[in-house]
Amino acid sequence: LKISIHKMDIPVPYGPAFEGERIRKEDMQIEIGGPGVPAFEYVCTKEIDEVEDGKIQVIGPDLDDIKPGPGVSLGIMVEVAGRKMQPDFEPIFERQMHRFLGEAQGLFHMGQRDIIRHRISKEAFKAGFRIKHIGSIIHSQFHSNFGAIVDKVQVTFYTKREDVERILKDVRAAYAERDARLKGMTDDSVNLFYSCTLCQSFAPTHICVVTPERSGLCGSVSWLDGKAGYEINPTGPNQPIERGKVVNDTLGQWEGTNSFIFNGSNRSLEKVSLYSIMTDPMTSCGCFECISAMLPMTNGIMVVDRDFTEMTPCGMKFSTLAGTVGGGLQTPGFMGHSKFYLGSRKFISADGGLGRVVWMPKALKEELAETLTKTAAELGLEDFLNKIADETVAQTEDEVAAYMQKVNHPALAMAPMF
Ligand code: SF4
Ligand code: ZN
Repeated sequence: LKISIHKMDIPVPYGPAFEGERIRKEDMQIEIGGPGVPAFEYVCTKEIDEVEDGKIQVIGPDLDDIKPGPGVSLGIMVEVAGRKMQPDFEPIFERQMHRFLGEAQGLFHMGQRDIIRHRISKEAFKAGFRIKHIGSIIHSQFHSNFGAIVDKVQVTFYTKREDVERILKDVRAAYAERDARLKGMTDDSVNLFYSCTLCQSFAPTHICVVTPERSGLCGSVSWLDGKAGYEINPTGPNQPIERGKVVNDTLGQWEGTNSFIFNGSNRSLEKVSLYSIMTDPMTSCGCFECISAMLPMTNGIMVVDRDFTEMTPCGMKFSTLAGTVGGGLQTPGFMGHSKFYLGSRKFISADGGLGRVVWMPKALKEELAETLTKTAAELGLEDFLNKIADETVAQTEDEVAAYMQKVNHPALAMAPMF
């Protein structure tokens, strides 16, 4: 038996008790990332001789020389090497960093990839915590959790905005390359789906069923990630789900998925539709990228993402909606989901699909313009993006309905939603 203990050299307490610990604005030394601030977390695979195990570098100023407050740029580049390492595992490691970093007292971790938003508390700073200590955590946790796969880990931090901006170009290209591998795969082309139960720590009945055309609702677990997660850890949160016999093709219900959810939800849920928001929708934990909500007067749905903090046409802000939808409940008419799923041909296909979308924030529409335009065209929806209202033309359900009349929105001609 080989036991390797990688001592973590950090000046603050560490453990599961601190996961999810909030750091209020007045208590934070700095906030990393956030809207408009370039920042990223990226794990990449290297050759064994390209990585020096335990090397931690901070390129640019560390906390002593960073102005306290929000808006801090940071690039976290984690380079790993190992005989069993595969590029397919990179996103899994990235996702786990949420837990690894969140377990340090005084370090709050949110988001992933290039949408991170972390805080370091004043208290931690006073205790001697510096950026380089994030590297110690990553190094030791990667060894203790992925020891079977990873032999060497080195971490480089970029703290100058211009460096982060420059490197982010390559990092985004790498994210895009990962995502592209999934394109072209359909749910019908695979025999197995994968579960993700990572969020059961705070939403005990929640299970994401991850398929090629529907990623986990946090947006960071694709079908390929589920598959890789299972290979890394066969008893972990990603398990294969055999679809089995069809219960309802349109809704996206199979005997295999239903029974998996029944057993995995502590027998609290019997049925889940993968393609419907109205009939047995998938549950939501809390880390969804977007929420869809029915707008009864419009015969359609609105979609809002986390970055949009204003009031929405359903009369609730994202934060209030999140409280209604989250926690592992099944709430017909409401659903948390990833941005990826919104652009999927299977997006609420049982309820009429993308054509049901009547409102979304302008920024989200712009961000997803390419994929939404493509999917809309495939579904035969003409000039569809311009028919979706946003906050610049409609802020209430009435105004959305009026806008729909003006542009002749396709949802007007669809069957009633309920
Ligand atoms: Fe897994 Fe879903 Fe949680 Fe993402 S939201 S970590 S896919 S359970
Ligand atoms: Zn979650």
